[in-house]
Amino acid sequence: MSDHLEGGFKVLHVAPEMAPFSKIGGLADVISSLPGALNRIGTDARVLIPAFPGVFEQAEKMDYRITRIRRNIDLSINWRVYSSRLWKIQYGTTPVYVLDNPDIFNDPGIYPGELNQTTALPFIFLSFAAFQISNAIPWTPDIFHLHDWSTSIVPIAMKWHPYFSCYQNQYRTVLTIHNLAHQGILKPEVLEGWGLNKAFHMEGLEYYNSVNLLKGAIIASHAVTTVSPRYASEITHKSMGMGLEGVVKQNISKVSGILNGLDTDYWNPSSDSFLPSNYDRGNMSGKMVCRSTLFEKTGWEKNCSPLITMVGRLYKQKGIELMLEGIEQIINWGGRIFILGSGEKTYEEALFKKTREYPDKVSFVKGYDEPLAHLVYGAGDIFLMPSLFEPCGLSQLISLRYGTVPVVRSVGGLADTVLDADSNSEGFGFVFSEFSSHAMLSSLQRAFKSFKNKNRWNSIRDRGMKMDFSWNHSAPEYQAVYSRIYNQKIEGK
Ligand code: ADP
Repeated sequence: MSDHLEGGFKVLHVAPEMAPFSKIGGLADVISSLPGALNRIGTDARVLIPAFPGVFEQAEKMDYRITRIRRNIDLSINWRVYSSRLWKIQYGTTPVYVLDNPDIFNDPGIYPGELNQTTALPFIFLSFAAFQISNAIPWTPDIFHLHDWSTSIVPIAMKWHPYFSCYQNQYRTVLTIHNLAHQGILKPEVLEGWGLNKAFHMEGLEYYNSVNLLKGAIIASHAVTTVSPRYASEITHKSMGMGLEGVVKQNISKVSGILNGLDTDYWNPSSDSFLPSNYDRGNMSGKMVCRSTLFEKTGWEKNCSPLITMVGRLYKQKGIELMLEGIEQIINWGGRIFILGSGEKTYEEALFKKTREYPDKVSFVKGYDEPLAHLVYGAGDIFLMPSLFEPCGLSQLISLRYGTVPVVRSVGGLADTVLDADSNSEGFGFVFSEFSSHAMLSSLQRAFKSFKNKNRWNSIRDRGMKMDFSWNHSAPEYQAVYSRIYNQKIEGK
């Protein structure tokens, strides 16, 4: 008990993706680094993930120890019994339990294009499996820490499932919202096979005659966090609440915003093995080598014009249309732009078209490429993130660490992490407010102007590289949330 007051909670993070074993976006980075950061400060944090295709291959390639847990996880879903083997990967200080059933976890893309009873099965199985973990291993969590809609079923089941509700007094739940844009919307018919038809009402999962898993989890969880403080307040407004602003407001007393941290061992230009040459604040020459290596890949002439980079998913959220509208002006000002990413076909096609039109100024690599992403963060002068909304954003944090000055829209986590260099003597980026290519271009123009003044640019860059966006600040904030809800349990709330 005194252990708990000092933060020694047993916490099971349940998530569908975890770097380096599987990754679609920033959620995978958080699951890879937050549990380890919590373990360093006295929490016993562990992870439950499914073995989507590639997970074991990646673990074996990286020489992680994989051991078989003797007991299987058996669950009844949709009037059928499904069984999964269970494995453990020791990832640094974090035990990671891996559900292994290739028939259920068969989609290499993890998240389905269309969510229905069949495509939701991996997420229902993962969520129900959390309750079985203590039957399979000699360890029982105090707290389930859930992430986004895909594991929202855990608190929902604890509140409304005829069997799993027996755990209501045993476990506490934290739901972290990484992106409110994805809510897990399904037809109500799915609920019967999951034993959740009693949850279909306005104070539960019902949302305009559909099922909304994220809504249910916001209501049912003991605590809700968002991945930046700014995003926590933004989602109480209609413009950013994606239809759930009312539910968030009703539950505001249990909502807090905790900024994502970065795994600063992994994202470290002085030791990053993906870079052709390492560098640090004291010696930046390796950054020039990264730049030359990227130019060799693009076939571009090596000159000193500013290199703008982008790494990310190509969706409306990321403000791709602003960048596309501004490309000609960026080129006229002497800039070049390198984009790595994949996503919506129309954006991919538009980027290929620009590459054909300006082969020596624009380069687009379609796909997900971890080594290339590291090189791009290392090579760039400016990292552009003109997001429409951004719950936290890790790319701007990585680029800061790699000495690539971020130009960002003042929204969500971007607003919480990037300080404008023209309005603050301590600033280390360039920030704009309005969602327009005009506003984006005017801050890029300010960045270009500073770029020409080498002394000024070097100090802007250096201030950014000095910033500490590790988990050192945020992991204790999660511990405080765990303490709060655990103490509420003791008080019988
Ligand atoms: P989001 O979670 O919205 O996709 P974040 O900025 O929080 O955005 O995190 C994105 C993470 O995914 C970063 O680690 C980024 O480097 C990585 N990433 C995104 N797209 C790619 C890509 N095409 N290739 C390699 N890494 C990528």
